[in-house]
Amino acid sequence: MSRFWSQVVNDLTPYVPGEQPKIANLIKLNTNENPYPPSPKVLAAIQAELNGDAARLRLYPDPNADLLKTSVARLHSVSAQQVFVGNGSDEVLAHIFMALLKHDAPILFPDITYSFYPVYCGLYGVDYQSVPLADDFSINPADYVGKPNGGIIFPNPNAPTGRLLALNAIEQIAQANPDSVIVIDEAYVDFGGESAIKLVDRYDNLLVVHTLSKSRSLAGLRVGFAVGHRALIDGLERVKNSFNSYPLDRLAIVGSVAAIEDTVHFEQCCQAVIATRDALSTDLKQLGFEVLPSAANFIFVRHPQRDAGELAKALRDQSIIVRHFKLPRIDQFLRITVGTDADCKALVDALRQITA
Ligand SMILES: *Cc1c(COP(=O)(O)O)cnc(C)c1O
Repeated sequence: MSRFWSQVVNDLTPYVPGEQPKIANLIKLNTNENPYPPSPKVLAAIQAELNGDAARLRLYPDPNADLLKTSVARLHSVSAQQVFVGNGSDEVLAHIFMALLKHDAPILFPDITYSFYPVYCGLYGVDYQSVPLADDFSINPADYVGKPNGGIIFPNPNAPTGRLLALNAIEQIAQANPDSVIVIDEAYVDFGGESAIKLVDRYDNLLVVHTLSKSRSLAGLRVGFAVGHRALIDGLERVKNSFNSYPLDRLAIVGSVAAIEDTVHFEQCCQAVIATRDALSTDLKQLGFEVLPSAANFIFVRHPQRDAGELAKALRDQSIIVRHFKLPRIDQFLRITVGTDADCKALVDALRQITA
């Protein structure tokens, strides 16, 4: 607290990201980063940008990142005018809350979901109402029908549960709420979901958000984007151009384009993560864990006899870090990022010993 703080700052409850410990040799399964390096073409593109003209960094980057918008548009068969890009999808989401979700009626999102959403509500003064997930932690689309709202947002697959909602359910929600923006945060969709981007030409109220942080192994580069009707994108551009004209630097633009264009590398990494996830789920079930069905690059698990906080602590003592949320309904769960096969073997060995 300080007398220099504004009332808004006083009232904020900031998001707390998963730890990025500065300790060597940790097995880091706490923030859903990809265990595999990005495409070598990303590094080559960044090198080329630096080598091409040594003085290029003195110049501002393209404020519109047209190269990246064109690349995203080609990937998803939309026009570049339907694409918004930002410094990580967190920034894209922040602009969405400001531009498209701030209305008189409260917005809706699940009670268990990405914990940044209520933080943006606090920052921008957006009212919200949380909608409880079903007992099996799935989203029931009927809960989002016939309820007046100022917008709807949730991740698909949901975080931190990993559960996927079928595309027809998303369509049902978009159809039932023609006067609200429906935001689908597809941070994990490449690990087993089907993207709602294919619906944006049919629903002018549907906005789909992606990140290159997870499936493209570029959490360190900070690139995210949104795809939707041109009017939604124009609203986001208005906010962006009132906030920061150059959210993506030169290296992020060329690196992200190279990542999007290396389809082979992308598909190999996703397939590897999916195979490891399925093997890990089987192994943990054998140790007595309940494992929610996951379409993401993490699993959400609980042990019927072991306290989740204590399990997380015991793992940490063995240099393995996972995420534990001390939140209602999920405080007995651990969210475990899918690592390499070797990471997951170490995790299973540690948990076998801890729970023995
Ligand atoms: C990781 C994550 C993001 C943020 O991604 P960045 O692009 O790294 O900012 C957004 N939404 C969800 C649900 C996530 O898990």
